[in-house]
Amino acid sequence: MATATARMLTIQSLRSRLRPSAALGHSFFSTSTVSASAAAVEAERSRRDGPRNDWSRDEIKSVYDSPVLDLLFHGAQVHRHFHKFREVQQCTLLSIKTGGCTEDCSYCPQSSRYETGLKAQKLMNKEAVMQAAKQAKEAGSTRFCMGAAWRDTVGRKTNFNQILEYVKEIRAMGMEVCCTLGMLEKQQAEELKKAGLTAYNHNLDTSREYYPNIITTRSYDERLETLHHVREAGISVCSGGIIGLGEAEEDRVGLLHTLATLPIHPESVPINALVAVKGTPLQDQKPVEIWEMIRMIATARIAMPKAMVRLSAGRVRFSMPEQALCFLAGANSIFTGEKLLTTPNNDFDADQMMFKILGLTPKAPSFAKAEEEHEPEICKEALSSVG
Ligand code: SF4
Repeated sequence: MATATARMLTIQSLRSRLRPSAALGHSFFSTSTVSASAAAVEAERSRRDGPRNDWSRDEIKSVYDSPVLDLLFHGAQVHRHFHKFREVQQCTLLSIKTGGCTEDCSYCPQSSRYETGLKAQKLMNKEAVMQAAKQAKEAGSTRFCMGAAWRDTVGRKTNFNQILEYVKEIRAMGMEVCCTLGMLEKQQAEELKKAGLTAYNHNLDTSREYYPNIITTRSYDERLETLHHVREAGISVCSGGIIGLGEAEEDRVGLLHTLATLPIHPESVPINALVAVKGTPLQDQKPVEIWEMIRMIATARIAMPKAMVRLSAGRVRFSMPEQALCFLAGANSIFTGEKLLTTPNNDFDADQMMFKILGLTPKAPSFAKAEEEHEPEICKEALSSVG
């Protein structure tokens, strides 16, 4: 009883912080004050006030816990307010250096610690990478992402310089370029920026509390430090996580809370569903259900309204109608191409058909925007703190 009363007071105090939006021309609560969920309240606030980074964990949790169809509906409202709702960004992710990684990420077939049958390979040569980028462009991708299975690039000067060349050349082809190469030092981030890198991916994976159950060879704070170097270098930040690792819902909330309270929200937030690979410690995890994805996507959309929310690994398991619900909830980016690093991805023709049936349009690359895209996403609190 006391809990129910406290919850009601929380909702009432949220409501009391809201004023009818002049831009909307009416009070959102004019017809259904009593039944408004936290998703409704916070979606309205996001639409009215824009991105903010002062989210409390309880606020994110109450959005996440809202009735799922209500959450979906309000995620869609926020999505349509901040984005062209038919546009979906197509990114292609290529593993340019596969396997043999010294880290122990429990979900990853590329870790040398697990027997997954994956053969380690050296860095791909320039010709092969350029050929893959060309094919991706011809297939409609506007962003080309290169992944290397390394803890970091320190001590890999030759390989790193090669990657700088790849970045320059792919950028010159008229594509946005993203890399995921493990932890980055400040100087490396600056060099990647100089080469023309659009975005850098470095996922937080899960909540700070659950993280040690998944990875022990690098800390959560080291991950945050890499994100800081990327942000400081002026590169767009791509950071999200994976669900289905055996975490509790509280950990999913914790992950979203950490991302939504960064000084500037990531420009891209990939939401991955574990693809359990035989030989990894998580091989027996049960598959994530579509409603779990929708909860994550819609909560991410409401909490980080301007970010590109990417429906990433695990998409291959979802039917077209299920993916349609994810787009409705606020996802607006996907990976296309045969493989996602080493795991299977959706068929190219099936994706083309899905775009046609759902009336989706590919998002064009936007370099000026990509270079400045972190600016409009600076949260009000971050702006006020720098005067
Ligand atoms: S996720 Fe990345 S860092 Fe972790 S084991 Fe796989 S390749 Fe290495």
